[in-house]
Amino acid sequence: MKILVLNAGSSSQKSSFYDLTGDALPIDPPEPLWSAQIDWNDREDSATLKVKTAHGEVFEESYRSTSKSADTLKALQTLWSGNTQVIQNPNQIDIVGHRVVHGGTDYVQSTWVNAEVKASIERLAEFAPIHNPANLAGIESIEQILGADTPQVAVFDTAFHAHLPPAAYVYSGAYEWLAQGIRRYGFHGISHQYCAQRAAQILDRDLQSLKLITCHLGNGCSLAAIRDGLSIDTTMGFTPLDGLMMGSRSGSIDPGILIHLLRHSDCTVDRLDHLLNYNSGLLGISGISNDLRQITAAIAKNNDRAQLAFDLFVHSLRAHIGSMLASLGGLDVLVFTAGIGENSAAIRAATCEAFGFLGLSLDLAQNNSEPIDRDIADANSHVRVLVIHTQEDWSIAQECYRMASKSS
Ligand code: AMP
Repeated sequence: MKILVLNAGSSSQKSSFYDLTGDALPIDPPEPLWSAQIDWNDREDSATLKVKTAHGEVFEESYRSTSKSADTLKALQTLWSGNTQVIQNPNQIDIVGHRVVHGGTDYVQSTWVNAEVKASIERLAEFAPIHNPANLAGIESIEQILGADTPQVAVFDTAFHAHLPPAAYVYSGAYEWLAQGIRRYGFHGISHQYCAQRAAQILDRDLQSLKLITCHLGNGCSLAAIRDGLSIDTTMGFTPLDGLMMGSRSGSIDPGILIHLLRHSDCTVDRLDHLLNYNSGLLGISGISNDLRQITAAIAKNNDRAQLAFDLFVHSLRAHIGSMLASLGGLDVLVFTAGIGENSAAIRAATCEAFGFLGLSLDLAQNNSEPIDRDIADANSHVRVLVIHTQEDWSIAQECYRMASKSS
């Protein structure tokens, strides 16, 4: 079964192509036959398409950007008609799977795409104005190229958090907010679910028997508290701005600050939106970058603001892990994933240091050894600590495979 996965972010559009032969899914995530990524520059007037094959070949192409949906269409066409030709014939694609950021309360599991699903994704763009339109553009590009009958599956980033109890999803503002759709949804669900399943597999334990906290620490950062295989609490909320301090997003701050700024400065709603989403977090505090690698380099040169950004990030992470811990009432496994979680031994060590009282202790040599899909806790630790390479695209491909197997 040949599965194309499209994964649209705010400034990039990733895609992967899997060929799943045989009667069962492989236990270890396979390499895609190829993966591609379009990156837009800050002004969104130019785009670069980069394609990597499983054999290590790399193709790169840049072009002037007209619109993101036109670029997506062009990039997809390049995959079989341009220099790359990584797909010999588009008709060989059996299913296309899409990561869709917001499924609201309507979609608690993956679903086949039809006119109703598309209308819902469009309607929910009200809550995810950057992502849902990009996801819909991907679906429509495929319809345009391969025809409306091509089976497409929407896999929602909110779905894994559909089982949050009301005490975790209702905001303590006006009760009427609930009817207006203002509640905690949670995001990064595909990654949190994948990491929980992979952790159980690596530890050779039944997922249902484990209490886990998964830390997705990339440009966007969120935690999930997972019990009985379900997310029961999470840090992102009504929007992906809530919770942890992130690369350029503030995370949770006193809402009184927003009222103060709107009342006492020339700050408009749009400026506030930009400040909180693009100019806060590691970037805002350090004044250097949203990228932890640059913050760490500046700390080595004794930059105080970089040190403060690092310390704030760790403080926010520890505080929110504490909150997830209370929701779970215990902890068997702590998982680190995504760009920072997978690569920063310093963040992992500083975070874990606070949880020694749980009997959690790291094997520092393991932590420093660029571990991927490995346990880095020491043998006596009461909590296992895993570093897992998140594989959202593979997760989406698996969902497509399962949906197709159920309906055949
Ligand atoms: P992601 O959104 O998962 O692609 O993560 C991107 C972020 O991961 C970057 O902005 C960096 O802050 C961080 N990152 C990536 N590689 C490293 C590294 N080697 N060390 C520390 N942080 C890293």
